[in-house]
Parts: sequence; C-alpha cells; structure tokens
Amino acid sequence: MLTGEEYKETLFDGRAVFFGGKRVDDLPAHPILGPSVENVASGYDWCAAHAVGGVSPLAGVPTSAEELREKVEVVHQSGMLSQVTYTSIMTMATAAGRISETAPQYVEQIQAFIEEAHRRDVRITQCITDAKGDRSRPPGKQDDPDAYVHVVDRQSDGVVIRGAKLHISAASLGHELMTIPTKAMKAGEEDYAIAAMVPVNSPGVKIIDVSYAPRHDELRDFPVSGHHHVAEGFVIFDDVFVPNDRIFLNGEVAEASVFAHSLGLWERLGGLSAMADDSDVLVGLAQLIAEANGLAGVAHVKEKISEMIIHATVVRACLEACLTHAETGPFGAAFPNELYTNAGKYTGAANYSLMVRHLHDIAGGSIVTAPSIADFDNPETGSLVRKYMGTRSDVDGEYRTRLFHTIRDLTADTYGGWRAVTNIQAGGGLYAQRIVTRRHYDLDGAKQRALEAAGLA
Ligand SMILES: Cc1cc2nc3c(=O)[nH]c(=O)nc-3n(C[C@H](O)[C@H](O)[C@H](O)COP(=O)(O)OP(=O)(O)OC[C@H]3O[C@@H](n4cnc5c(N)ncnc54)[C@H](O)[C@@H]3O)c2cc1C
Repeated sequence: MLTGEEYKETLFDGRAVFFGGKRVDDLPAHPILGPSVENVASGYDWCAAHAVGGVSPLAGVPTSAEELREKVEVVHQSGMLSQVTYTSIMTMATAAGRISETAPQYVEQIQAFIEEAHRRDVRITQCITDAKGDRSRPPGKQDDPDAYVHVVDRQSDGVVIRGAKLHISAASLGHELMTIPTKAMKAGEEDYAIAAMVPVNSPGVKIIDVSYAPRHDELRDFPVSGHHHVAEGFVIFDDVFVPNDRIFLNGEVAEASVFAHSLGLWERLGGLSAMADDSDVLVGLAQLIAEANGLAGVAHVKEKISEMIIHATVVRACLEACLTHAETGPFGAAFPNELYTNAGKYTGAANYSLMVRHLHDIAGGSIVTAPSIADFDNPETGSLVRKYMGTRSDVDGEYRTRLFHTIRDLTADTYGGWRAVTNIQAGGGLYAQRIVTRRHYDLDGAKQRALEAAGLA
C-alpha cells in the first residue's frame, strides 16, 4: 500500500495538467490544487491506518448486504478519491458480471485489472460524460465526429482514441481514467462503443482543471470548502494509444450502455450516502441558528425544520433500503438495490433546493453579510462585532458568526453553488434517475392493486 508521501511522488509522472491557462508541473505545490493533493494523501494514510493484514480497506468485493453496508461506511470515511476509486472498481465488477454471457472475452481482463489496481494501490477516476455536441443527435450524426470519444485507429496491439470527457472529478489527481461510453450505442456506432482504462500520463491526455476552492487568504471564513475541495477535469484524449489488455469493450454496441448503467448505480449510491449525511447537517444548522436567533420555539420555524427532518429521514431510509435489499450478481458481488438507490438519489437532489430555502429563510441575511473572523481579531472592531453578532448572554457573537459562515460556505457561496448544481447533475440528471426508477418499479403490481381497489380485478 502507498503512503500519502509516496502517493504525492507518483504525481510527477509527466501528466499534462492545466489550471487557469497554465501548465501545472508540480501539483502538490500548486496553491489551489495542492490542498486537494494533500487531502488525497491523507486518504492514503487513512487507508494504511485501517488496513487489515496489510490489505487496504478498499480492497475486496462485498458479497452480501451486510458486507456492502460495512464497505459503504468505510469507503465514505476514506476520502473522496478513495470513494471514486472504489465506485470505479465496483462498476467494473458489476459490468463484468453483466457482460459475462454476451462479451465474455473481456471478463478476464477486467478482473485482472481489478487485481492490479488493488496491488498497485492506484486511484481511478471516472470518464463517462462526453462533450456530446448537439444533444438531439446520436454520436454518429454529429457535425464533429469527436463529440463523443471514439476509436480513430485500430492497430494489432491496441487502438487510438480521440474525444473529450467533461466535468471529471479529481481526474488530475488519480492514476487511471476509467473511460466508458456515456450512453447506449446503435449499429454503425461501433467506434464509439469503447471502454478502456487509460493511465493519466498517457501521451495525448490533457486535463484542464477548474475548482471551487476559495481564492481568499482568510480560509477561516470558509470552514468547509477552505480545507476540502477537489478539482473537476476537462479531460482531452488527443489521439491516445490504448493497448489491448486495457480495453474492456471494443465495438460491441449492444453492451455499450452496460458500463454507464453499472456506474450510475454505484455513483448514485455514493451520492445518496453523502446526501443522507449532508441532509442531517442542513437540519442541524437550521436548528442551531434558530436557537441562536431565539426563534427555535416559533411555529413557522418549527414547521420548516420538521419538513427538513422528514426529508433527511426519507433520504436515509432510501439508503438503508437500497443496502438492505442489495442483490447479488453472477460472480457473487453484492450491489445496491436499483429502485431505492435511484428513488433516494432523486428525492435528495430534487428537494435539496427546498431544504436550502428553508435554511436561508430561518437563518437571516447574516448568511452573506456576517463579518470575517479576522474582524474579531482586530482590537478596534473585535469586541463590537462580538457584541452585535451575539443575541443573548449565552450566545457568543463569534459562535453565531461561525454558524453563518458555515451556512454561506455550504449553500450560498462558490461551493454552495457547486453543491446545488452537483446534487442535480452528478451521477446523471434527475431525468436519468426517473427513467431507472420507473424501470425497476413494479408497475404491473401497482396496476393490479388499483384494479382490485376498483373492484375490476
Ligand atoms: C461537479 C460535477 C462533477 C461531475 N463529475 C463527473 C465525473 O466524475 N465523471 C463524469 O463522467 N461525469 C461527471 N459529471 C457530469 C454529470 O454526470 C453530467 O453533468 C450530467 O450527466 C449531465 O450532462 P451534461 O452536463 O453534459 O448536461 P446535458 O447532457 O447537456 O444535460 C442538460 C439537461 O438536458 C437533458 N438532456 C440532455 N440530452 C438530452 C436528450 N437527448 N433528450 C432529452 N433530454 C436531454 C438532461 O437530462 C439534463 O436535464 C459531473 C458533473 C458535475 C456538475
């Protein structure tokens, strides 16, 4: 297993990363990307500290609902990139099971890669979302054939791919890019039915990063995003060679959607599990600020917080249900129940803005106007700010200000905006979750019940 320091050294492998118009050759030293590297390094050290018999807690594929539940908890604590890596490995394990009858030639390679990934202790990111060009047209009918990643050359020892994958979380910080079709493909789109594992430092890979990390010197005013942020990569495959043993699908259009569907499930499980915790944090903040404002007993405030509690409880119930009703694939790997995972992720995302609205309504304007923590340090203003930001003798002004900063950082500033969009889009938009939920819901059973209720059965 790698230590955090060893991980940092792996980043000096010639990868082509760009930020703000400049190439970044020293990621750990970069003012914006460096802290993200540090977080990933801490995740490595966390895994090392929680290893059992020298084996990373990320290793191993759960085979029962209980193991899956334990794994989700462990992975959740291990840091963002560890979680993405785990999700990627589970995507491949799930996809291998699903293509075992229709495209068995790839199963051994996928399994070999999973073993290799555990052995090398690498971090994997997920390259699915293509540039997509005109959304109403399929890949083969785009003005620019590169709108979706595709094979542009076939050689005896591999293929050359071209295209771009957008919004890829932590792409520049990992080692391998799990590159898979974003959607189903049809006959004639064989070159777009390509799934492969591409090393980040492959010649021709260029990653352009953006980040919501605060650009302020005073990070104390950003209690959440000041310390935990991650870059999203615009990943360009500018004629990248992929050797045969790294290819997991190559032209089989019927299987093109299997990888994205497998990933969607694991990605939404990750999203759902984060939302369950995040919803509790929103409830907690609403209650704390209501208490600090002296309004916790007021009827309309209690009603809003009750509604937030119901939301948080329903999201967590879906998480519990999707784990409790986990299913087992052909190779014995347990995966979360699709219906509850998708319905839960949808509910969490769709109602998020209402929860934020309640929080903002309860908290007041100081969410965006509370003074900086540095103003408490200034002898000329400190005691005055403390006095006027306080509400009662038992509510310290700095305490209340820190609550406001947390609410702003989480819901009303750069990171807050990022969360609002990400809740909706990451793991596919709401539409995607509606489709999958509908597909797995027992609609015939519902019709039967309705007929019975109507006396028409
Ligand atoms: C912060 C963040 C992190 C992300 N991380 C990753 C990542 O790590 N890896 C990754 O691969 N992706 C990642 N994504 C991408 C995410 O999955 C996409 O944003 C999402 O799938 C929507 O795709 P899009 O952004 O291209 O929007 P669009 O595809 O343009 O979608 C916009 C809207 O149009 C609808 N729409 C699009 N096409 C059609 C159509 N043909 N018919 C009907 N409706 C349509 C969509 O449902 C959606 O409502 C991330 C996104 C965000 C915001």
